Amino acid sequence: PTERGYRGRFAPSPTGPLHFGSLVAALGSYLDARSHEGEWLLRMEDVDTPRVMAGAADAILRALEAYGFEWDGEVMYQSRRGEAYQAALERLQAQGLVYACRCSRKQLAETAKRGIDGLVYSGACRDRPPFSEPAALRLIAPARRIAFNDAWQGRVACNLQAESGDFVLKRADGVYAYQLAVVVDDAEQAITDIVRGADLLTSTPRQIALQEYLGLSTPRYLHLPVVLDAAGDKLSKQTLAAPIDARRPLPALLAALGFLGIGEVRPVGNLDEFWAQARELWPGAGLPLRGRRPFHQTALEIA
Ligand code: GLU
Repeated sequence: PTERGYRGRFAPSPTGPLHFGSLVAALGSYLDARSHEGEWLLRMEDVDTPRVMAGAADAILRALEAYGFEWDGEVMYQSRRGEAYQAALERLQAQGLVYACRCSRKQLAETAKRGIDGLVYSGACRDRPPFSEPAALRLIAPARRIAFNDAWQGRVACNLQAESGDFVLKRADGVYAYQLAVVVDDAEQAITDIVRGADLLTSTPRQIALQEYLGLSTPRYLHLPVVLDAAGDKLSKQTLAAPIDARRPLPALLAALGFLGIGEVRPVGNLDEFWAQARELWPGAGLPLRGRRPFHQTALEIA
């Protein structure tokens, strides 16, 4: 693989301060970018404005800075990208791939079956006469296998229609869905390599389908193991994972590096020593990473 032209990114959702799970994702994506002498961009995924916490975006940036992460270029904010998402939506609509859905939560739950990532929508609204918003807009998921090679997980595949179903591109409240926003923005930032937590592994086939429909190239993917809490759930801002301490970077950084399990982590005295050690341990270009498995997968085939 060529070392040139690598562009990675870290794309936190500012629904709360940086926690240990997102630090692991930041660390993995940063180390992979730097080991390829690539760029590392930041994007605030604040598209879901009702869920954004005031001050969280700035707190995340300050924490990253205090931890010694250096990003390239301007931070992108999804809250300012509505026009680009609308344009992408219209391109999909022009291909006849989008329909309005006004099923209630209750109707969804009654008609759906379980898939790789929650419920698979029955498609009930597909053949109903068109109606105007407010309604959620769904993409007709392709009824074929979508497969990709993940640099950490191995070969991943699923039939998107059967296992994910028609998925929402824009919610009835007008908020563009993560799946659409992330694909449009990864293309806008010319991202070549996506390194993120394996909790998003089930989203990747949907994103690849959107890239194909929009004529965008598919980046390489590497899904890192996910940090779980004592109950076996993913740490997230919703489960109120404790924020990491911006004043004491070393313990959290060493723990995050240790969590990745890529080698023996030695104690260090300062940030420079930490980053030197971390860059030394990261396997870098072409080296196979360990086949760590994500925490839960149902019908997602991983070989
Ligand atoms: N914003 C997403 C999150 O915080 C990550 C998106 C991504 O890396 O694709 O979980």
